Amino acid sequence: MNKDEFLEELKKINIELTKIQLEQLDKYYNLLLEWNSKINLTRIIEEKEVYLKHFYDSITLIKAIDLNNSLTICDVGTGAGFPGIVLKIVFPNLNITLVDALNKRIEFLKLVINELKLKNIEAIHDRAENFIRNNRNKYDLITCRAVSKLNIISELCIPGVKVNGYFIPMKANIDEEIQNLEFLNKLDSKLEKIVSFNLPVENSIRNLLVIKKIKDTNSIYPRNYDKIIKRPL
Ligand code: SAH
Repeated sequence: MNKDEFLEELKKINIELTKIQLEQLDKYYNLLLEWNSKINLTRIIEEKEVYLKHFYDSITLIKAIDLNNSLTICDVGTGAGFPGIVLKIVFPNLNITLVDALNKRIEFLKLVINELKLKNIEAIHDRAENFIRNNRNKYDLITCRAVSKLNIISELCIPGVKVNGYFIPMKANIDEEIQNLEFLNKLDSKLEKIVSFNLPVENSIRNLLVIKKIKDTNSIYPRNYDKIIKRPL
């Protein structure tokens, strides 16, 4: 997807970017390229691919929830900043916390935040289970892309969502994972809907699982990571 195609596709979902936002995306791409040769950030690096599979794909969260309000969002396992940095550029009104267990990536994100002069966004080096345990019921929305299986990330993320707030993981294939969603009851949450669509150009499938938190999660969650893995919900 070249930049013109990127802008065309955004228009279809009612998004028009300013010159400043386009420059910020361009700068972000160049920083990715520069730092990817020093630290492992992403295997997708060709410009057209980054605009499609990282930038456009991150923005598709708008298909599931209105991002034009000043929501407080946490992006768990953000890696090189997807979807969190892209969402902040496109929807500057958002308050965003990026969390990742790998400090090298967090250092890169701090540099991006600085270079792009982004405000109301922080990058935190921590494991999700520790971070969320200390930040319960705090976020209007927690999202995460390509981190782990649904039962694992749900336990990691949902305790951090406010009651009546949302956890919206961004997923490719979900056929197997949604066969049994009983674990959501243990987390006092329910699947409200699934927004499915195809990524433009390559037509691969994408799913946004809109999970609503109904009540405060039992304080035993999230458990320690070895327990989450050994005995998943
Ligand atoms: N969301 C990004 C990165 C996906 S790779 C994208 O879609 O491109 C998964 C990331 O999750 C890695 O950067 C890894 O360090 C982080 N991660 C995995 N388990 C984690 C945990 N328990 N806590 C915090 N970060 C975690």
